[in-house]
Amino acid sequence: MSEVIVTIFVLVGLTALVALVFGVWVVVQIGRGLFRAAGRALGGLDIGIEPPSPMMKPWVRCGSPLCGSENPPHASYCRRCGSPLSSRTRARRAAMF
Ligand SMILES: [Zn+2]
Repeated sequence: MSEVIVTIFVLVGLTALVALVFGVWVVVQIGRGLFRAAGRALGGLDIGIEPPSPMMKPWVRCGSPLCGSENPPHASYCRRCGSPLSSRTRARRAAMF
């Protein structure tokens, strides 16, 4: 008879343990999801500032064919690859607008 009680206790204990582990896992997943969402929100904000606006001074495109990244108008060197931004590129870019 006591064996049945011990078996029931073990089963209830295991169930409680599994429930606890699952609860912790759920909390971790929710926390991770919130963290990721916050990071995405911050990244989206950053991207919102990034692209050059037509109303602003034209951004300078890097002369390197492998890079070609946009740089602020006041930049003298590419912020990605570090190659100097020629005034010729800047003038051609300005003429487009
Ligand atoms: Zn570059």
